[in-house]
Formats: sequence, structure tokens, C-alpha cells
Amino acid sequence: MPGPYDAFLRRKNERLPHRARPLTAADTPHAGLEQVLAAQLDSSVDRLLPELQDLSRAIHADPELGFEEVRTVDRIADLLAVHGVPAQVGAFGLPTALRARAGSGEPRVAVVAEYDALPDIGHGCGHNIIAASAIGAFLALREIVARTGGTVELIGTPAEENGGGKELILRAGGFDGIGAAVMAHPGNRDVASWSSLAGVRRLEATFTGAAAHAAAAPFLGRNALDATVLAYQGIAMLRQHMLPTDRVHVIVPEGGDVANVVPERASLRGSVRSLDLDTLAVLSARVEDVLRGAALATGTELSLTWDPTPPYLPMRPNLTLCARYVRALEDRRETWWHVDTGDSSGSTDMGNVSYWVPAIHPTIAAAPIGMPSHSGQMAEQSITEAGDAAIRDAARALARVAGDFLADAQLREAVADEFDRSGGPQRASDVLPGYH
Ligand SMILES: [Zn+2]
Ligand SMILES: [Zn+2]
Repeated sequence: MPGPYDAFLRRKNERLPHRARPLTAADTPHAGLEQVLAAQLDSSVDRLLPELQDLSRAIHADPELGFEEVRTVDRIADLLAVHGVPAQVGAFGLPTALRARAGSGEPRVAVVAEYDALPDIGHGCGHNIIAASAIGAFLALREIVARTGGTVELIGTPAEENGGGKELILRAGGFDGIGAAVMAHPGNRDVASWSSLAGVRRLEATFTGAAAHAAAAPFLGRNALDATVLAYQGIAMLRQHMLPTDRVHVIVPEGGDVANVVPERASLRGSVRSLDLDTLAVLSARVEDVLRGAALATGTELSLTWDPTPPYLPMRPNLTLCARYVRALEDRRETWWHVDTGDSSGSTDMGNVSYWVPAIHPTIAAAPIGMPSHSGQMAEQSITEAGDAAIRDAARALARVAGDFLADAQLREAVADEFDRSGGPQRASDVLPGYH
């Protein structure tokens, strides 16, 4: 459907190739997997494909929100059981997390699955494709892991959309000892690494004033709704003076009950996003100032909670692994190695994983350019032929990247070197001021 932003989106997409770093042979000199094993991964994925597509459709038809993915995680465990793999449902202290393993000892590589849906629009983020491709990659790798040596783990992570399941799994030690973690997310481009996945912190603010008869004694009241309105407007004014890549969005979930009582309590809930950790800290502090100013101006008390759910760190993609991903798909898709859009596109809790272990979060094209994520259109798109092709290609590519990692000691060294140069292992609590 044509819309007023078509021309804008077209220009933006036309600019992208100039901001894309192409991969050269020198970028990934590693041998990786033996050709015969790589070919075996491909044919295993092809053999599994009907089951993966069925799984994707079953997850899609029965969408469950974050931390409530009970039937979804059972479906995944059932498919693994059909292939003789016992899966631990309820791993890491989270009822809808999942863990399965194949092989033994070092090195260890993790394939990460997401499977939560969005309220009202179901799988408008296409996590059914993520789940199916991750399980496909894991099952294919299981067939060759005795030849490569090492361990492959499937880590099923709940609540990417709203709860930071990966951060909770990190805290429970779920990624300790893992040498690399891989997943792929459907979108409308083939890109191994975007520069635009921001860090995000949530906030919950409650203003408490004094109730009074709104007509008989308004002078005795202190209006908590006024405080939220002022804060909302203050944040709107702040937007003019933020980085163009910063994002703040707030809602007012609670603003009084009846019009003839001065609202005693009102609240505001929001998200603050920025591409870098230090700018995220600055933006958080500026938003906090606006909230405190609103309380002062209205004579109300502010109670402010940062990070009621875990913050998401910006994505720190391991470009050495991204290069292997591009290589793995070379004969099927033209995938850009790294794209710097100068833009902000959203956030993922895979960011937190990427600060702890080398990780990748490529976008696999499953939709036409311009189709927005988190939309009803994208939900429908994720069970089309293009969605199924994304499952196959992402499963093959993730299996090959993980296989390369297990098989090639020099590659592992290069991956670890890059990770150390970019700051080494860090936790959200190490790098975000005020977060514990
Ligand atoms: Zn999403
Ligand atoms: Zn998503």
C-alpha cells in the first residue's frame, strides 16, 4: 500500500549501499569447516525443513507473550524429543527458558532461540522464524559435532520483547564458558551487522500529590496528573536537543479516576534509547531531570524506578563471526557484512549477550523493503514462502558459523581477539551507572 513515507524510505534504502562495508577475502582468511561437513549441514537443514516450517507455523498460530511461552516451549521440546534430544524446559530458573546440548567439552558454541510474541499483533516480530531456524541449526550441528569436537548448546530465551530474558539467563550463568553465541532475526534486508541496535532502559515514575474537591477546594490539592503532563511535555521539548539517534517514548497508564477529585496519584512509563553506553547514561540523567522538575513545579513527590526490567545493552557484533555468516550465505544471498545507517532501529537483549561473549545478530530478509516490523503485515509475512526461505537460509548459515567456530582454532582465536579489543566481557551492572 503506497504511503506518504515511500519516497523517504526509498531514498534511505538507496543510501544504504554506500554505508555498507563489503566483505573481502582478506576479512576472513580462515578455513572453517571442512567442505564435506559444511555440505552435510546444508543437507541436514533441507531434510529438517518440513518440520521446521510446521514448528514455525504452530508457534505463529498460537502466539504467547514474554515469560508466558508455555505451549511454545513445549512444542520446541517435543520436536527435539522426536529427534532424541532431551531438552531442559525451565532452565536457568525461568519456566519458559530451554536448554539442550550435543557433544561434549570445549570449545562451546550456543545457538540462541527467541519465541515470544507481541500483544494484539502476535508474531509481528517474526520470532517464530528465529525459533525454527535456531532449532534447525542445532539439530544439524548435532549430527557433525562428534567430527568437529566440542559442544553445541541450544539456549531458548524468553521475553525478548518485554522482559530481557537473556539478561536473566546471563545472571544465572547460562552463557558462562560459551565461546560464541549466534542467532538471526528476520527483517527486510540481508545484513550481518547493523550499527543501529541501541541500548534501552525502562523507567516507571509515580507522582503523588494531594486529593481535594476539584471545585470546592482546589487550592488544597496537588495534582499528580499535572505532573505527568508536564513531564510528558518536558520530554517532548527535550527531543529537539537530543542526538538524532536517541529515542524516548512514554505513556501515561494512570491519571486519576474522576474529574471532580484532584488526582492524587498518576504515573508515567517509558523507554530511553541510545546507541552508545555513555550517551545512554547522559540521556537517562536528562530525562530524570525533567521528571524531577515536573514534581517540583507541581508540588508532588516523585518516586522513580529505573530498569524495572533489565536494561538492554547496544549490540556489539563480532565482525569476525559476521564475516563467516556472510561467507556461509554467499551462494544464496547477497548479505552486507556491516551497515552503518547513522540511524536507530530498535534494541535487543542479544546486546547483553554480545557484551559477555562474542555474538552475532544478523538480519535475514524475510519481507519486502519498507515493511515495518512490529506490524500486522509482518506477522502475516512471517509464514509466507519468504519466511520459510529465511528459516532454511538462517538455519544453514548459523549452523555453518557455529561449525566453523568448533572446527577452526585460528578462527576461534581471531574471534576472541576481536572481542578482547572491543572491551572484553562486561555486564550491564559494570557498564551502566546506577544499574545493579
Ligand atoms: Zn521485536
Ligand atoms: Zn524481534
